[in-house]
Amino acid sequence: MSAAAWFKSRVGADRRLVRQSVDALPDGLWTKCPKCSEILFNKELEKNLRVCSKCGYHYRLSAWERIQITADEGTFKEIETGLVTLNPLNFPDYEAKIERDKAKTGLNDGMVVGLAEIGGHPVGLGVTDWFMGGSMGSVYGEKVARLFELATKKKLPVVMFTMSGGARMQEGILSLMQMAKTAAAVARHSKAGLPYIVVLTDPTTAGVHASFASLGDFIFAEPGALIGFAGARVAAQAGLIDRPANFQTAEFQLEHGMIDRILPRREIKPTIIKVLDFCMGKEVSSDAE
Ligand SMILES: [Zn+2]
Repeated sequence: MSAAAWFKSRVGADRRLVRQSVDALPDGLWTKCPKCSEILFNKELEKNLRVCSKCGYHYRLSAWERIQITADEGTFKEIETGLVTLNPLNFPDYEAKIERDKAKTGLNDGMVVGLAEIGGHPVGLGVTDWFMGGSMGSVYGEKVARLFELATKKKLPVVMFTMSGGARMQEGILSLMQMAKTAAAVARHSKAGLPYIVVLTDPTTAGVHASFASLGDFIFAEPGALIGFAGARVAAQAGLIDRPANFQTAEFQLEHGMIDRILPRREIKPTIIKVLDFCMGKEVSSDAE
C-alpha cells in the first residue's frame, strides 16, 4: 500500500485520530473543508477540481487554475498584459496594497483576458482572480471592454468567469465608470449577434454583478455562490429585514429567474461546449471532458 493510500484509509478508519494529528502533518498535505470540516487530501482535492468530495463546497480558484480547467490545453493566449494599475486619486496605501496582491497572485490586476479554444471553438476568455477582493478598477474594466471589442472584431463568442466584491473604492468614480464602459462593450458584441456566456462564481456582487456579469446570453453559476448587488450583511445594514435563509445565493437567484442554471464545477466546461456547439454551428466536439 502506498503512503498516500495508507493515509486515505486512515481517514476512513479513524477520522478523529487523523483530525487530532493533522496539525502535526507537513503543510500542503491536507486541507480542512471550511463548510463541513472534512479533512481532505490535497491531491484528491486537486483531482476533484477543488470541490469538497463530502459536501460539494466549491473552493475559489485562481485565474490560472480556472483557465487550466476551461481552455483546451495549450490554447490560451493572454492579451492586454501591458495595462498597469496606477493611483489616480492618490488614495492612501493603494500602491502598497497593489504590490502585496501582485506578489500574492503573480498578476498585474484581477482580470486575465485572452483568446482560447474551448471544445475546439475559438473564444474570447476572461477570468477573475481574488486580487484586491476581485474588485473592478480602471485596468480591470479596460481589459473587459477590450476583450469584448476584440471578440466583436474577430466575430468570437465571449466566455467570462466572474468573482468580485464589486467596484474598487480606491479608484472612486473611475471604478464606477467601468460599469458603463463594460456594459456598452457587451452591448456592441451582442448587437453583432455573438453569444456571451458568463459563469458567476463565489462571490459575484455589487458593481461587477450590476454590469457585465449579469448581461450574459447564458448565465450560469457555481453552487452556493454569493450573487447579488448587496450581500446579506449590507442588506441587513440597509434595514431589509425579511431575508430568506438562502438570500443572495446562486440557488436564490435561480428561483427568481436571474440565472439560467447552477452548474457543479465538473459540468461547466461540457455545458459551455454544448452552448458553443449550438450557437456556433458545430455539431460534434471531441474535447468534452
Ligand atoms: Zn466539505
